[in-house]
Amino acid sequence: MSVVGKSFQGWALRYEGFVPQQEGLREALCTVGNGYFATRGAAPESWADGVHYPGTYIAGCYNELRNDVAGHTVENESLVNAPNWLPLSFAPEDGSWLDLGEAEVLEHDQELDLRRGVLTRRLRIRDGQGRVTRATSRRFVHMGAAHLAALETTILPENWSGRLRIRSELDGTVENTGVPRYRGLATRHLVPIEARSLEPATVLLVVETSQSHIRIGEAARTRLFRNGAHLDDGRTVIEEPGRIGHEFVVDVAPDDAVTVEKTVAIATSRDHGTSDVGLAAADWLADADSFDELLQQHVLAWAHLWARFSIELHNTVEDWMLPALRVHIFHLLQTVSPNSMDRDVGVPARGLHGEAYRGHIFWDDLFVFPVLNLRLPELSKSLTSYRYRRLPAARRAARESGHQGAMYPWQSGSDGREQSALLHLNPKSGRWLPDTTYLQRHVGIAVARSTWQYYQATGDREFLALRGAEMIVEIARFFASLATYDRDRDRYVIRGVVGPDEFHTHYPDSPEPGIDNNAYTNVMTTWLLLRAIEVLDLLPPHRRTELTEKLRLTSTEVEQWEHVSRRMFVPFHEGGIISQFEGYEDLKDFAWEDYRARYGDISRLDRILEAEGDTPNRYKVSKQADVLMLFYLLSAEPLTELFDHLGYEWDPRVIPETIDYYLARTSNGSTLSALVHASVMARAHRDRAVEWFVEALRSDVADVQGGTTAEGIHLAAMTGTVDVLQRVFAGVELRDDVLWLNPSWPRRLGTLTFSLLYRDHVITLSIEDRKVRVSSGPGRQPPVRVGYHGNLRDLSHGQTLEFSI
Ligand code: BGC
Repeated sequence: MSVVGKSFQGWALRYEGFVPQQEGLREALCTVGNGYFATRGAAPESWADGVHYPGTYIAGCYNELRNDVAGHTVENESLVNAPNWLPLSFAPEDGSWLDLGEAEVLEHDQELDLRRGVLTRRLRIRDGQGRVTRATSRRFVHMGAAHLAALETTILPENWSGRLRIRSELDGTVENTGVPRYRGLATRHLVPIEARSLEPATVLLVVETSQSHIRIGEAARTRLFRNGAHLDDGRTVIEEPGRIGHEFVVDVAPDDAVTVEKTVAIATSRDHGTSDVGLAAADWLADADSFDELLQQHVLAWAHLWARFSIELHNTVEDWMLPALRVHIFHLLQTVSPNSMDRDVGVPARGLHGEAYRGHIFWDDLFVFPVLNLRLPELSKSLTSYRYRRLPAARRAARESGHQGAMYPWQSGSDGREQSALLHLNPKSGRWLPDTTYLQRHVGIAVARSTWQYYQATGDREFLALRGAEMIVEIARFFASLATYDRDRDRYVIRGVVGPDEFHTHYPDSPEPGIDNNAYTNVMTTWLLLRAIEVLDLLPPHRRTELTEKLRLTSTEVEQWEHVSRRMFVPFHEGGIISQFEGYEDLKDFAWEDYRARYGDISRLDRILEAEGDTPNRYKVSKQADVLMLFYLLSAEPLTELFDHLGYEWDPRVIPETIDYYLARTSNGSTLSALVHASVMARAHRDRAVEWFVEALRSDVADVQGGTTAEGIHLAAMTGTVDVLQRVFAGVELRDDVLWLNPSWPRRLGTLTFSLLYRDHVITLSIEDRKVRVSSGPGRQPPVRVGYHGNLRDLSHGQTLEFSI
């Protein structure tokens, strides 16, 4: 792929040279993490200076700050930038500390080894006195031991001798300043608590978040070697408010290799089984071996993960596709992994890679669960429990808004209260504007759907009985109560919401926020109500009794759901195209070509129009796929069944026209769009589907939004590419306890082989041109059912089935 200085080779993502304008992007894409915490690929000697942004984020570690903005007091909860454990710098005794902005950079390259989870940086610099020094560093955040990370740096003076100074620190003075448009708001989350030496080689830093009072302990052990021999003396403790570390002075001659091994342990008061974070960090560190030994175990943990997430795509149109997919899986597993299990964390939309959207959790897990369900279902279960624990908050929110059941927040953080900002800054106009996108009630449908999909993938009735059913029922209850009866239509309507497309937040001449009858929300409400009824039927009688008694759910209420599910209103244009919402057809047409000619990139039309004193609410323009989300989630067959159930004569032959209609009216201001478009194109226009798929693959690696990736990856877009490959192109669909295969394989993609876990069968699926092969590995489970074109076959362990397509 043509991005200056970047190359993909098999398992490596490489960046050549030092390009200050690209540093933020490289840092985000070279993040190393393990699902418990992650650290951006920032240079160890750097600090937040407009070029570099070292950031470390611990899953679930949020803190709230208050601000006065445009005459309002706003509270913002953010994923906290934890103390920076990286700081490691060096200097000749009479020279200045390493600074790429100052030194003459002779060589600089950075390589992320995706298979092993190791970031290597090589550097060669010359200072003002002509001294040439080389430095190579390797770092990883341990996938097998959640609390540990290590950085090894080897410094080699090429042409000078003298005294070399080295500084290694923990820095608790960092703030959340990673996103320029939030910088006008408060940024300081950490309060220093303690900084001290634990033993000669080890220092400890303890900080606490200012409002949520989460304690974070970081312990660092720094050891020094010259030409392999351990050096013990020449170390002094350095301490400044909020920072602590060591400084070393060591005599060097040309080609002496001085190696600094920095091993770090992180603990927080959110960890189970921890009372004193300082003690815990010190204990984790005491257990840690040398860099090389830790590395071995780390690589082994990654090998196990890659076996589950293995994917091979060969003879394809573009040879960077497979490495890009690996980058995506890699960052998924750095955000959520076995280390996230039981930790009460969700799926942050921008990974643990930056501060965009303040680390909040949206509906994006809808795009993530299908991939996890079939590879690490235990993880899906744990992430679903994040939502289960916030069921009381969702019930409270529903009650306070005059509804029943559970209303999940559009943006979720620590405790399940709505975290959407009520004001947002348009960087184009400099104005703070009311933000009503929190009206995206459809997030609840995503929560229910992910829970249901987990059950479909695993058949885990235990979880369904104990937690899943309660969530699905309460969410269904909320949507049933959101729907009101419209006598004139003899149908139920849902008013005052926002659909997935965030450009339409109200009607052009109405002061009231929200639009009515968003087709996606309404159709999916029908889907949801039917699932809730099905779930109740699936429960063993004793559990059903317990649940219905606990929730005071009567048969009349369930009958009412059934009734609403048949009589939900769905808006259509003349001619049968599903309307995005009621009244969409009456909006003005938009001068797409004119705006493209004037602005070039018009993906964020909301910002452009607002800066012009206008609003997208007046036009037929969508930020992202909305109606088309229906085709993304439901294939033609179940969707037709839903419309039949609703009593609408909907003809699936209108699908291609509907796709064209909305494609022409979508600006793709969200990376989710390309995924959905790739998926919905797959049946009718394989080539165009591949183009959208390529676009989705480029989202982050080529930073297609021109700067947003530096603020955090787009986890749903990344993971969604794997989902599109598996669920759409390879056609793996889970329904009615059957693994259905319904491939729409674009021949241009060559051959695909991947593994998945379905009901305790390790299944390898390969697909090429006209053949699909499914085989199950060894095991002792009963056969699973595989369906192809309406025919069902049993697949037993050790067996291979082959279908022609
Ligand atoms: C999209 C949402 C998405 C959010 C977080 C927004 O730009 O419009 O659909 O959930 O980003 O990824």
